[in-house]
Amino acid sequence: MPSTNDYARREHHDFVGATAQALEDAPLQAALLRLTGTLMAANRRGYASFPGSDQLRDYAKQIKEHTLAHLDQYLEELEASIHRLGGHVHWAADAEEARRIVVGIAQRSGCCRAVKSKSMTTEEIHLNPALEKAGIEVTETDFGEFVIQLAGERPSHLVAPAVHHTRESISRLLSRHLGTSLPDDARTLAMKGRELLRAKFHRADLGITGANFAIAETGTIVLITNEGNGRLTTTCPRVHIAIMGMEKVLPRLEHLPVFLKLLARAATGQTMSVYSTLLTGPRRQGEKDGPEAFHLVILDNGRSRILATPFRESLQCIRCGACLNACPVYRRIGGHAYGGVYSGPIGSILTPLYDSVEANPHLPHASSLCGACLSACPVRINIPRMLIGLRELQHHRKADRWERLAYWLWKEVLRRPWLYRLSLRAARLLLRPLARNGWLRELPGAGANWTAVRDFPAPAPRSFRDLWPRLLNEGERHSTATR
Ligand code: SF4
Repeated sequence: MPSTNDYARREHHDFVGATAQALEDAPLQAALLRLTGTLMAANRRGYASFPGSDQLRDYAKQIKEHTLAHLDQYLEELEASIHRLGGHVHWAADAEEARRIVVGIAQRSGCCRAVKSKSMTTEEIHLNPALEKAGIEVTETDFGEFVIQLAGERPSHLVAPAVHHTRESISRLLSRHLGTSLPDDARTLAMKGRELLRAKFHRADLGITGANFAIAETGTIVLITNEGNGRLTTTCPRVHIAIMGMEKVLPRLEHLPVFLKLLARAATGQTMSVYSTLLTGPRRQGEKDGPEAFHLVILDNGRSRILATPFRESLQCIRCGACLNACPVYRRIGGHAYGGVYSGPIGSILTPLYDSVEANPHLPHASSLCGACLSACPVRINIPRMLIGLRELQHHRKADRWERLAYWLWKEVLRRPWLYRLSLRAARLLLRPLARNGWLRELPGAGANWTAVRDFPAPAPRSFRDLWPRLLNEGERHSTATR
């Protein structure tokens, strides 16, 4: 799948190097273990404490499937609803167009100080550098995102963007920003952050948010936060721009509670997130707060292309982060090793799809295919199936002559039981002398690549096929004796 956008916009990402670095970073390892362990346990508790959560997850999936099947219709309905409310809708085919639209609105409205609430879609389109280049000051107002902005980094988790930072590193970053020395006490740091961000809210003339959901029938934009910064971002400044991926639309308001119940439980085990903000158009006559102007930017950026592929299911994602917490790979390497804006199992699908499979050859393999992501996902997205699909795509394109020959030989052996038996015997004869305590720790030739990073089990002295006649006889003798 060729790249059609600047999703990645990065130098060639060294996945293997970044992974090795993450594995040696002891504070990161401790932080990842703590956060993902806590959130994973909360996810299980969240589902278990809610009778009918299985049926609700099935229903959520049905809603998403139905919406994606009629996406054009619901997006047009959303546009009409927002126009009715006095808002404006803009369609962005790719990241560049989305940036141009946002910068254009800001300039035409005379805005020069923006506050932002947490939004992966704005990360995806690399909005902040474009705003800054246009002379617009931009401040992230989710505390984790603010820390990331100070550090000049990308988020490393969908719901906990600064998971890789410690109290000490946050204190260093805030101290440097304020030009004063702050203690590494969590409460002091939080209060300092609050004070700093309040001042930004008061001065801001532009509020930028994403949208967790958008309701087609009412034109309502839904923001889910735990810090309340979404409300301040959308009510203090005089202009509000929301940027959403086109897959975030829901047909009816009655569908929203299904996702509100699932999103919080899946992400953090909460019954509900602390703030669920429903915004329906700009401020109306007689209302005390809200923006004078509201703009919704609907972003495609490769999504409509994905819609027509077997990877359509990835568009059902509600960005809860549960698959990251459940994944044994993410839990060890963290978000930055993945290289893209989205990390973890869903990132291993979205990054190759939004960017290109060729530019991200390692990501479809950054999974043990254990299925933990599927169990944790509130909309039961079959991530393992899609990872295998991406591997197939890679294989079709990339397999060299030797790999193709190896698979052909493997196929021919499997088609002939006598040859299969003979091959097993030969492998046993060759490999058993190299085994120590049941494991092969150093294979020669091409096998050395395998044993460089993991051990290989030594072949059993007798194969199951050899054992089977004896086991069958024993079973029959046992059942005759007990009859
Ligand atoms: S794939 Fe599922 S579990 Fe992962 S972030 Fe998306 S909705 Fe959450």
